[in-house]
Amino acid sequence: MPDNPYLLLTPGPLSTTKRVKAAMLKDWCTWDREYNDLVQDIRGRLVRLATTDTDRYTAVLMQGSGTFVVESVIGTAIPADGKLAVLINGAYGERIAQMAERLRISTVRIALGETTPADVAALEAVLAAQPDITHVAVVHTETTTGMRNPLEDIARTAKQHGKTLIADAMSSFGGIAIDVAALGIDFLISSSNKCIQGVPGFGFVIAKTEELIACAGRARSLSLDLYDQWETMERQQGKWRFTSPTHVVHAFHEALLELEDEGGIAKRQQRYENNQRLLVRGMGELGFQALLPASCQSPIITSFVYPAHPQFSFAEFYARMKLEGFVLYPGKISSADTFRIGNIGDVHADDIARLLEAIGRNRFWL
Ligand SMILES: *Cc1c(COP(=O)(O)O)cnc(C)c1O
Repeated sequence: MPDNPYLLLTPGPLSTTKRVKAAMLKDWCTWDREYNDLVQDIRGRLVRLATTDTDRYTAVLMQGSGTFVVESVIGTAIPADGKLAVLINGAYGERIAQMAERLRISTVRIALGETTPADVAALEAVLAAQPDITHVAVVHTETTTGMRNPLEDIARTAKQHGKTLIADAMSSFGGIAIDVAALGIDFLISSSNKCIQGVPGFGFVIAKTEELIACAGRARSLSLDLYDQWETMERQQGKWRFTSPTHVVHAFHEALLELEDEGGIAKRQQRYENNQRLLVRGMGELGFQALLPASCQSPIITSFVYPAHPQFSFAEFYARMKLEGFVLYPGKISSADTFRIGNIGDVHADDIARLLEAIGRNRFWL
């Protein structure tokens, strides 16, 4: 039996290595020194992956899927009299605006359409017109389409206006090099099951320590109080407030060691970029057009437009590809019929080559 009946070409949960999965074959307690030291090691590694200026940043781990962790930041970082501007060009940007509104936070949407990169000029205009905005949120790679937003430009503009910057780097952190201190990012959010290549169960925040300390007592939720979670992890040196996903944490630690063995984020980014280049080129030869231009395409996941042929059905294509050993991902936008192929996880150039061959064999619509 192969380890897995198929390769996940999805944006997470994704295909992980046997090494990462094997770390889950033991039961661990949550309160002893051994486990807490592991948590501390993870926190230190995350900060070092996020910046060279490690003294001013800290890492907090939080139970739940990525959305829970985004909500913990939105609900903890923004004070009662704060105001949030959100750049939106996909479902994840929209979700940040929705959670802010649910928490009764004054929210300004900067909606750009699904195929336009987050625009500095639009942000500039909103910040100039509404000086009471205190926080800016942006999704780095919009997994909805595969769009890579210009995080550096957005960060520069937000910082020029003195705003606190929240970056949803869920699907990019670990796969695209980011230096939070160089960009001035105050809160960066990601999760265990994306580019670090662990399994789902928790997320994490890399925060500017002084910004996080200023959040004491602000949270609108007990379980999602990011400050309290951090304060407990600091004071009790690696202790989570409530039951932590111990197996997932062990797998994540192994995934961090594996990332180091691969050569770090720069090397992983090269592998993802190579996967993505091979994919778009091969798909083009098979008659598939990418939704986005290369200029704003991330190396994480790619949207392809349905072939303009009446016989094409995504359901059938999906079913055939799954039998071939590849799980694809449906599209998520309203303006075009698309499907997505992710190339993050334990996915390599030879997998992309096998995928392209399999697609070539299965063009039932021609
Ligand atoms: C995966 C993802 C999330 C979180 O999604 P969950 O399903 O809650 O894990 C948030 N933002 C982006 C950009 C993502 O890719």
